[in-house]
Amino acid sequence: MEEHSCDLLVIGSGFAGLWAALSAGEAGVRDVAVVDKRSIGLTSQSRMAAGATVYCLPRYDPGLWADTIANANGGLSRRDMVRDMLETSHGRLEVLESWGIEYRRLPLLGYQTMPSRGLEGVRMLVVPGRDGAVGGAAVVGALMEQVRERKRGGDVRLYPRVMITSLLRRDGRVAGAVGVHARTGEPLVFKARAVVLAAADCSFRGGYACVDAVTGDAFRLAYDAGVRLCNMEFLFSNTGSPCYGFEGTGVAARRARFLDRRPESFMKRYRPEGDTAEVCHIVQAMAKEARERNGPPFYFDMSRWPGRYITRRMLMSVGNWCRSTSGGSPRKA
Ligand SMILES: Cc1cc2nc3c(=O)[nH]c(=O)nc-3n(C[C@H](O)[C@H](O)[C@H](O)COP(=O)(O)OP(=O)(O)OC[C@H]3O[C@@H](n4cnc5c(N)ncnc54)[C@H](O)[C@@H]3O)c2cc1C
Repeated sequence: MEEHSCDLLVIGSGFAGLWAALSAGEAGVRDVAVVDKRSIGLTSQSRMAAGATVYCLPRYDPGLWADTIANANGGLSRRDMVRDMLETSHGRLEVLESWGIEYRRLPLLGYQTMPSRGLEGVRMLVVPGRDGAVGGAAVVGALMEQVRERKRGGDVRLYPRVMITSLLRRDGRVAGAVGVHARTGEPLVFKARAVVLAAADCSFRGGYACVDAVTGDAFRLAYDAGVRLCNMEFLFSNTGSPCYGFEGTGVAARRARFLDRRPESFMKRYRPEGDTAEVCHIVQAMAKEARERNGPPFYFDMSRWPGRYITRRMLMSVGNWCRSTSGGSPRKA
């Protein structure tokens, strides 16, 4: 097998993986390998993110925000880790800004913020920009620029299209990983003094907007290597099929309705906000409807949408829906 050695192996190249590679460099680690089963950075869900981000600015109380987030998650999230993320977030904002990322500011008021859905008091900065790119694309662009500079200096090596399939262990520690090249099928071995798993979560908006690579691999890799996992039943779930981009939280839901098999609208019976409820509530409502034998199937009825809203741009922005159902004609779709 083709064999590579490095000090640090980073698996995944979204925000988390790229940031890990750069932070390791800051901490003096010189030989970092970044692998991704797709392109480096470009196909991550990070690049597709809208980019509204929770940063705890100095005027906010990280303890209060950590309580709010922990409570909103039924006490299941690690409050200490959430607090740590919040306390260090302002520092990350400053670093990103030093790389040219600009978050929108209002005259006299400073950063433009918006409420974070379901988290009373927690504010997000609105979509960032850089060199004409916006949102996640702007942030990934800035991170990639830094990573490429480290690559030129010989500190970072990049391995696109290598899917890691298992972690290697030696003396009870993770000592590398095995992968396969997605194009050639050749197996590769990475020996590493340390491994960072940054291969993301499972299925959040998976299956469209180029994020079908987000399939929970990190959990499987960790589990097979002996890690105990918890809260697995609370991974994101989707109400959409893999080739159908709208799942209730997007722009489409403002005028569209979920229908059961009769077909009748049902969301108002479960949530006052009806069809614009959070995905988790839509899933629960569908499960209850299924118990009453009112589904499946469930439908997403867009017939009340005025045609002028259904533009090619809008359909393309939500992924492969128009391509997969209409052969390229959004009007027909
Ligand atoms: C459409 C959309 C909009 C969003 N909007 C927002 C927003 O406005 N604000 C916000 O805070 N969050 C938003 N998010 C969520 C946010 O993008 C993610 O939480 C974040 O990008 C996760 O970063 P990450 O580095 O952990 O994972 P990712 O960016 O998903 O990167 C993981 C990488 O790991 C690679 N990988 C996976 N398995 C393997 C393997 N076995 N071997 C090798 N590589 C592997 C993948 O190819 C991928 O490139 C949005 C997400 C989407 C999809």
